[in-house]
Parts: sequence; structure tokens; C-alpha cells
Amino acid sequence: MLTITAINAFNDNYIWVLQQDTQQAVYVVDPGDANVVLDYLNAHQLTLAGILITHHHRDHTGGIAALVAYVEQTTGDTLAVYGPQSEAIQGVNIAIEPQITQTLSLALLDSPVQVLSVPGHTAGHIAYLVDGALFCGDTLFSGGCGRLFEGTPAQMWHSLRLLAALPAETRVYCAHEYTLANLKFAQAADPSNAKLKAYNEQATALRAQGKATIPSTIGLERSINPFLRAVTPTIVDSIKQQFCDQDLSNVDELTCFTLLRQWKDIF
Ligand SMILES: [Zn+2]
Repeated sequence: MLTITAINAFNDNYIWVLQQDTQQAVYVVDPGDANVVLDYLNAHQLTLAGILITHHHRDHTGGIAALVAYVEQTTGDTLAVYGPQSEAIQGVNIAIEPQITQTLSLALLDSPVQVLSVPGHTAGHIAYLVDGALFCGDTLFSGGCGRLFEGTPAQMWHSLRLLAALPAETRVYCAHEYTLANLKFAQAADPSNAKLKAYNEQATALRAQGKATIPSTIGLERSINPFLRAVTPTIVDSIKQQFCDQDLSNVDELTCFTLLRQWKDIF
């Protein structure tokens, strides 16, 4: 069994730890901060088998150098650091070109890891899927999606469609605890969604207890995340109200998504 645990980093980042059965060597996803990872490893008597990186932002990559140095000093080994080839990320020594490499076999993990190309938040953003667990970095959040820093709305829309088509039970391990803020916007865009309202209550209760709302599931996101539902009639109505100065008589899916993302940016 693959056990997945969160390490909290910075204000709202999650660094995900992947442990196969009772193996002592684990993988971490997007270690922006080495110290919290080292504290976790020491506290649980674990070692590091490798690092998976989704994109180049500092809060996902800032810990690579110190973790590589730590492993080299303590074992003499070179730590395997996977990341997207098209992004210049210092410390990545196994660069993945998702058009060519679609699955990875990682030492110690029983199941292969599927690599998905999900540009939009950054130009070369990738996601990893293993044992029904999706590590999607800053592409899909619970109730929201990443900002478009480098990609086009069309790229992000395509990436989100790809993720939304995964099996409903796929668990979504995104890299930030943004859920409550996302749900505030989601309810403004999709005010009559009863599932969204119920989820907001559940997420609010979890956060009040200091608990994570992550992982979410693809099935849940399909029913509550406005960015996966941009063509739902109530959301289209909200978009039309928000952008009433524009002629939106013939809006297509991509236009709805683009306007929704613009609205969220200023919400
Ligand atoms: Zn990012």
C-alpha cells in the first residue's frame, strides 16, 4: 500500500510524502522547504528515495539543493530528482519530457507513476499519477485552479479537462491549502449549487479543527469546482452578470473559463 502524508510548509503549502508499505525510504513531492522535510524524516526515522517536482516555482523547489546535499553527505548517493525538462530547475537530474516519457518506474514504488502534461500555471507544468493519487502541483486546487502565470487560458482549460476526465475516485493532492478562499469565489460564481454549499460547510469545519481539506477527489471537484464547470448555466449567468459590458450572447467553453479565471483574479 502507498501511504501519503502531508508535511506543512510556509503558510499553506503541502509537501506530500509517498511511502510504499513499510519502506524506510520515501519520496517527496515539491519540497519548497528542506528543513521541514528533514525534521519529518528524522522524527519518523525515514530516509529519502527521491524527489518529484511539478513546476519551477520556488515554493516547490527551494528545498532541492539542501536535500540533495544531505543525502550525499549521509549516504554518498546522488538523490534522484525528477522534474519537467522544459523548465530550468536547478537540481533536477532526471528531466521528464512528458510527450516522450509517460510513465516512470520509481525504485521502491510498486506501481508505475504516470506523467501528465498540464501547462497553464507554468509553461512546462507536469502532474504525477500513482495508485489513484494525483499530484497536480498548482494546476487544480480544491474548488479552484492555479493562476495563469505563463500559459494561455486554452492550455489551462485543456489541462483541467484532462484532469477532470480521470476516474471520479482519483484523490487530488494539490500543493496548497486554498480551499476555503476558493469556495468563497465558487459560491459567488455558482450560488445555487447544493453540493458546493455542503462541501463549504464540511471544509470550514475541518479548517476550524486545524485539519487539511486535501486530498479532494476528481468526482467532488467535478461537482463543485467552477473551473471544471464553467459552462454550467448558472455559472454562465454569473459570468454574464459580472462582465455585463461585454457581448456574451454566444460564449463557448473556453471563453467561459477565461472570463471565470479573470474574475477570480480580481475577486
Ligand atoms: Zn506555482
